Amino acid sequence: MTNPIAEARADGRTLLTEVESKQLLHDAGIPVTQARFAAGADEAVAAAEEIGFPVVLKIVSGDIAHKSDVGGVALDLADADAVRSAHAAMLEAVKATAPDGTVDGVSVQQMAQPGTEIIVGVTTDPQFGPVMMFGLGGIFVEVMKDVAFRIIPLEQRDAKQIVREIRGYPVLEGVRGQAGADLDAIERLLIQVSDFAWEHREVAELDLNPVIVRPDGALAVDARVVLAAEA
Ligand code: ADP
Ligand code: MG
Repeated sequence: MTNPIAEARADGRTLLTEVESKQLLHDAGIPVTQARFAAGADEAVAAAEEIGFPVVLKIVSGDIAHKSDVGGVALDLADADAVRSAHAAMLEAVKATAPDGTVDGVSVQQMAQPGTEIIVGVTTDPQFGPVMMFGLGGIFVEVMKDVAFRIIPLEQRDAKQIVREIRGYPVLEGVRGQAGADLDAIERLLIQVSDFAWEHREVAELDLNPVIVRPDGALAVDARVVLAAEA
């Protein structure tokens, strides 16, 4: 496969699809569930059989930023029949909720095991350049705005601090007898993302939302890369 950044540039796009974003991050050694593009139901089933069940199906569209808002995410599909029916239902739902969006196809990826969801983001500040954002996923970020920021590049010490700065840190440490999240894996991921952003200055925005963290590792299950407009 060619370079996703070059491909997007050639198409005049700044928004990379989840498939492209994850390919780029995977090539940089960042742990992601790689997503395989499938144009139709038969291709989706073939991809699922290669990946191994259970799988996740998602809509691929250059115009849809929040896939689950339009019925474009189907989790935990156990077999070929489940993939086929989810594919049909997804196209219906997306057509109904986002009638103006063009759909390229779907993507198929491995279903990750449950864990604590965190978000890792990069934005570009006109003054400071690339900035890292870290927080817990879901209501923690949406309702409580419980996030911490650091200017990129991060050093080991910054990664340690940013993780401990959010109010929700005890959730990562483990509460009420629940196993804690793999803090080393989170810190490693933050450094990898920082290095990636530092080396790819044409990346204006990056979102890993969410990364699923377990006691033994961290895995990004959604990714979005936005390129800076070409000068
Ligand atoms: P959206 O574009 O709506 O953000 P996501 O790709 O983040 O779509 O999927 C929505 C939710 O589904 C995620 O927040 C996560 O909880 C769950 N999810 C997505 N992909 C996977 C996966 N590969 N394994 C397990 N859960 C997933
Ligand atoms: Mg997401």
